[in-house]
Amino acid sequence: MKNKNHSYLILSLLFNLILLIFISPVNRARAKIAFYSILGFSSNTNPPNFRDTVLVSEYKPKSLFESIDARPSKTPSFPIFETHGHLGSFFKSTPEEVSKNMDSLRIEYLINLNLIGGSDFQDVIQKYNDPRIIHFTSFQWDLLQEKDGIEKMLSILKDDFKRGARGVKLWKNFGLEIKKPDKERLKLDDPILEPLFREIENQNKIISIHTADPEAFFSEIDEENERYEELIRHPEWSFQNEKFPKFNEIMEERERMFKKYPKIIFISLHFGEYPHNLQKADDLLTNNPNVNLDIAARIDELGRHPIATKNFFVKWQDRILFGMDGPPDPDKVAIYTRFLETEDEYFDYHSANKPRKGLWKISGLGLSPITLEKIYNGNAKRIFGKK
Ligand SMILES: [Zn+2]
Repeated sequence: MKNKNHSYLILSLLFNLILLIFISPVNRARAKIAFYSILGFSSNTNPPNFRDTVLVSEYKPKSLFESIDARPSKTPSFPIFETHGHLGSFFKSTPEEVSKNMDSLRIEYLINLNLIGGSDFQDVIQKYNDPRIIHFTSFQWDLLQEKDGIEKMLSILKDDFKRGARGVKLWKNFGLEIKKPDKERLKLDDPILEPLFREIENQNKIISIHTADPEAFFSEIDEENERYEELIRHPEWSFQNEKFPKFNEIMEERERMFKKYPKIIFISLHFGEYPHNLQKADDLLTNNPNVNLDIAARIDELGRHPIATKNFFVKWQDRILFGMDGPPDPDKVAIYTRFLETEDEYFDYHSANKPRKGLWKISGLGLSPITLEKIYNGNAKRIFGKK
């Protein structure tokens, strides 16, 4: 009996030892190499040097395929109508710098998508008074909680239109977070907003709307999430929580809103959040003739399926607008123009100082001059009545 216990103990120790050895990837490599060299497949008996673990956030492989941007100039072949600009101290821009960059980057017009209204809006239009800059205002949501909130919002909106606002920017908090006075989530097509939308319609103003966010932000942050690396850096961007509506729920509300106001021209920002699903983007444009898409901050997704995207851009060349999200930036112009104009393959969609939004690279569309001109400026000029 004593002997039997003894041998169990030895066996279990041996088993644990083997387990311990094989837990280490370096030891597993050693064992493999030894095994293959016994079989005569390899004479290299030293395992290579490698780090056991590299965090996804630290994984920055240098591609051996060198994608060279051979263009002599990185400026666009046509003047740009930037429909998704953001200016102001938050974006670290100054009026002088913006105007200077607009000149050098061939930006003919720039829409500044403000979220502020009232006196703050007044300050911005006075500060950024370059006549090429077109200012948008927004709904002042804080007032919604007050008594007669909608009337107060409407009165500021009318003032902002008098001050020269050409349209209204609605941000993603509309749909995701904003609550009604009764604490229910405010839906995109909620009837309480009708007076505001009617005013926009009557004054022929444009709505630029950012709805939801990339669909991956609504999924679990786990090994299957293609934006894992980004979401662990920015967990605050995740909407994977019962607190928030589902992605499709917001998209359905948006569809009803587009249909409810067919006379209002909408710019559905960030490619309507369908850059990864061109069938849905196609349905959106087919079913809603009042809707246009901008490409701002979504070339990362569009450029990973360049052939389908090119076909889509050719088909919908009258409904796609150019936007880069932020103040004029030479690095962004170089990348966006490369994406639209060249057939370059497998290049970074972000500049060196900007982090990735997914572990992939993109390829260019190589659009024709006719399509390019419409996307760069023709479509926006038509919408905004500019020559
Ligand atoms: Zn934006």
